[in-house]
Amino acid sequence: MATFIVLLGPPGAGKGTQAQIISRSMNLPHISTGDLFRENIKNLTELGKEAQTYMNQGQLVPDSLTISMVKERLSRSDCVNGALLDGFPRTSAQAEAFDRMLLETFKSKVDCVPCIEVEADHLIERLCGRWMCPNGHVFHTKFNPPKESGVCDICGSALYQRDDDKIQTVSRRIAVYEAQTAPLIQYYENQNVLYRIDGSQEIDSVSADILDVLKKFAKK
Ligand code: ADP
Ligand code: ADP
Repeated sequence: MATFIVLLGPPGAGKGTQAQIISRSMNLPHISTGDLFRENIKNLTELGKEAQTYMNQGQLVPDSLTISMVKERLSRSDCVNGALLDGFPRTSAQAEAFDRMLLETFKSKVDCVPCIEVEADHLIERLCGRWMCPNGHVFHTKFNPPKESGVCDICGSALYQRDDDKIQTVSRRIAVYEAQTAPLIQYYENQNVLYRIDGSQEIDSVSADILDVLKKFAKK
């Protein structure tokens, strides 16, 4: 049976950072809808053009576009044993569509939802110091600096700061999370798959807590 894990949490909680560690350890593909949209923007696709307007404003990309993009990604062969979702679902409509997709395509359901919790003040500091590479590897000037300034430790690409990591957009994104995504905590609590993780700890301690929760889902 395929294993599906959803990393939930506000912008800056550490979803991308943890997803990199956990996908390797669980041997599951890391699917980040933010990274997929950024790839479409870079490749100047129609989807990219449409998504960019919303992303620059710190708003969510419409559900229909997001859901069909995820559906296409899950249809690829690397997802036969499941996937680790980062940044999806982000609305109730996406969560319901995802449940339907898993049932129809994989005869499966969401197995586990680690929810990474961090206070708003810390989120702002994390996002405003975030640097990333085009392949989605994440660093922080203070909390997780690269070995060589401006260069990705993992793939050697140049690091950049995201346009939507400016203070005005960051505050909007946190508000959008509270209004549209936070209700998913209750949604997954009702399915008995939600696990709260203290995201204010150091990166390694957060990973250890998540992996502890995921132990029973690890494939041999
Ligand atoms: P998200 O994907 O949830 O938006 P990221 O993984 O991109 O979050 O992390 C946001 C920023 O915070 C990055 O610069 C990252 O290096 C940093 N970060 C991630 N986890 C921690 C942590 N536990 N403590 C301090 N900084 C962290
Ligand atoms: P962060 O990890 O900092 O929260 P992401 O990289 O996940 O940021 O997302 C960046 C932007 O991409 C979001 O602010 C939103 O505009 C868009 N986006 C990403 N995932 C979704 C989604 N599931 N639904 C709608 N919009 C999304």
